[in-house]
Amino acid sequence: MEKKTICIDFDGVIHDYSNGWQGEDVFGQMIPNADTGTSVLKQKGWTVIIFTTRKKTDELEKWLKEHNIAYDYINENPGQPDGTSGKIMADVYLDDRGICFRGRWDSWLVREILDFEPWQEQQKKEIEQLAAFNDTGNSIWERGCERRIKADL
Ligand SMILES: [Mg+2]
Repeated sequence: MEKKTICIDFDGVIHDYSNGWQGEDVFGQMIPNADTGTSVLKQKGWTVIIFTTRKKTDELEKWLKEHNIAYDYINENPGQPDGTSGKIMADVYLDDRGICFRGRWDSWLVREILDFEPWQEQQKKEIEQLAAFNDTGNSIWERGCERRIKADL
């Protein structure tokens, strides 16, 4: 079986990046199960490359080690042929800002791009919506309760 390679983004995939860029060596909490997921890939024989806009610093490597993230390289694929660009060759890219191209430039794809929001932004909106649930007096929750009360009368 041919050995496969995955490029895994760091910000928002391995560690929480909800607060955005806070500095070169400032990291959030580990995304749950990033340690287990990367370990399984390694056990299955995959080459795991952390592919990030961050520089490969001692602090980044320390953080990855402390959090048991299984990986082979950071921002490089030593097996890559000469004459290629800075884009790292891989069989799969895992990224919180990716959209999978499925062979067609159709309206669905363009809509996906235009409407795209990373999961952290979607999560923030959901939390805000939940927090505002009872603020308006016209929430779905209250309208639902009113209907049930009227139905009971
Ligand atoms: Mg990211």
